[in-house]
Amino acid sequence: MSATIPSVIIIGAGFGGLGMAMELRRNGFDEFTILERAAEPGGVWRENTYPGAACDVPSPLYSYSYAPKPDWPHRYSGAADILNYLRRLAADNGLLERIRFGADVTEAAFDESAGTWTVHTADGTEYTADVLISAVGQLSRPQLPAIPGREKFRGPSFHSAQWDHSVDLAGKRVAVIGTGASAIQFVPAIQPRVAHLTVFQRTAAWVVKRSDREYLPIHHALFRHVPGLRLAQRLWIWCFLEFFALGLADLPPLRRLVAALCRASLHHEVTDPALRAKLTPDYPVLCKRVLFSNDYYPALVQPNVDVVTTTITEIVPEGVRTADGVVHPADVIVYGTGFKGSEFLWPMRILGRDGLDLADAWTDGARAYLGMTVPRFPNLFLLYGPNTNLGIGSIVYMIECQARYIRQALTQLAGHPGHTLEVTPQAARDFDTHVQHRLRRTPWSSCSSWYRNAAGRITNNWPGTVTAYRLRTRTLHLTDYDLTPTP
Ligand SMILES: Cc1cc2nc3c(=O)[nH]c(=O)nc-3n(C[C@H](O)[C@H](O)[C@H](O)COP(=O)(O)OP(=O)(O)OC[C@H]3O[C@@H](n4cnc5c(N)ncnc54)[C@H](O)[C@@H]3O)c2cc1C
Repeated sequence: MSATIPSVIIIGAGFGGLGMAMELRRNGFDEFTILERAAEPGGVWRENTYPGAACDVPSPLYSYSYAPKPDWPHRYSGAADILNYLRRLAADNGLLERIRFGADVTEAAFDESAGTWTVHTADGTEYTADVLISAVGQLSRPQLPAIPGREKFRGPSFHSAQWDHSVDLAGKRVAVIGTGASAIQFVPAIQPRVAHLTVFQRTAAWVVKRSDREYLPIHHALFRHVPGLRLAQRLWIWCFLEFFALGLADLPPLRRLVAALCRASLHHEVTDPALRAKLTPDYPVLCKRVLFSNDYYPALVQPNVDVVTTTITEIVPEGVRTADGVVHPADVIVYGTGFKGSEFLWPMRILGRDGLDLADAWTDGARAYLGMTVPRFPNLFLLYGPNTNLGIGSIVYMIECQARYIRQALTQLAGHPGHTLEVTPQAARDFDTHVQHRLRRTPWSSCSSWYRNAAGRITNNWPGTVTAYRLRTRTLHLTDYDLTPTP
């Protein structure tokens, strides 16, 4: 190692990368560089510009604890407000100078003789650092469905995360494929504008109302001048979400309450029995992400909307053909088909000890100790890695827990110059066994979703409350790691 303060490369400038940088800076670790492939920070909140894009977690909790924002316009923020928050944070804390924009990391390899990581970007630049931290997120690679004929469609078509704002949807016949978290946000936003909307649904979502509210100048003043009030609000939201998160693995009867709330919303908003039947989920609640919306069902009952549940067989030049032979005409197709969530760190090539490729270490599915460290990959840390996504709760809170933990690892490295830190296979195995055991008690094991990989292993989610994760990651125990001198 080159110096007492380890040098760090962070890949990605979303909530994860910026949060890690803040944690380092606040603790005197100032030798870091962030490599970001895009032209500005923001991660998913920069990419997802679709109409109605918003967060399902109230902003007082979906923000860093050390960077509160007293003047969120709404309790549930839109993507633009969250992006502005991240832009401001990066600018106000001098992080922009530390980000190399347009740096698309293609490969990183651990150099055993030097005890350092060498990182390559698509433009041929090489970087070296003692520590490598991946903050590439779980949802940055849009997933397009494997429907035959996609390229034959004669009109514009795009994924919700690559919204084509040059396409004017006014008066058009729009086909929406997919009814997940993004679609239930953009469907109500575009429905009043389009001539006709055909929503192709493979699986009905469990949808619950959210209690959004506008924050007025009086709220902003109170949150700014009475910090106790702001904290109380954050605590209240945290307790509320933690209560429902107990239903995931610890208190299954709570799921009945969630199901009842969703059913009440459906019964209240959709009176047509045929449509209601289509929109009634046929799998256990919480198995897929429960979606929050006050305007999705009201949009679907409008006369210009059809919900089609017949399987799509083909895209044809003039629209979408379903298994009953019907061609549903469309001028524009929007794919609300989610992300490649279980391909962690892909397509980067990450090479650890003895040139071991992380993709080979993960052939049975991604796994990492506390979602952060992997045996044979010394001084590599992952943010929002395997099994740290949440069914209920704020990912920003999880990222903060991880950043604090990784900072402790850096403290160890600073205290042991010339050493590397590598999780022991035993610690990693025990943790994985524990997590997979608990996951079997969750609803996620009873249906297919993006939380599971092709083999059915739940690679994405944390099986419980964020409190449990906070407690597990509060202290880095050196007994879980090998601290090895560089030869
Ligand atoms: C539409 C949408 C809604 C969401 N809503 C919620 C919600 O309500 N609540 C919640 O808790 N979470 C939500 N999430 C999850 C969200 O991903 C996390 O909350 C959080 O933003 C993750 O931040 P991140 O920095 O880890 O990842 P990202 O935001 O994905 O940022 C990763 C960054 O890494 C960069 N990058 C990726 N690969 C490379 C590479 N090879 N080289 C260089 N740079 C690279 C990307 O360009 C990006 O800027 C949502 C996600 C989406 C897509």
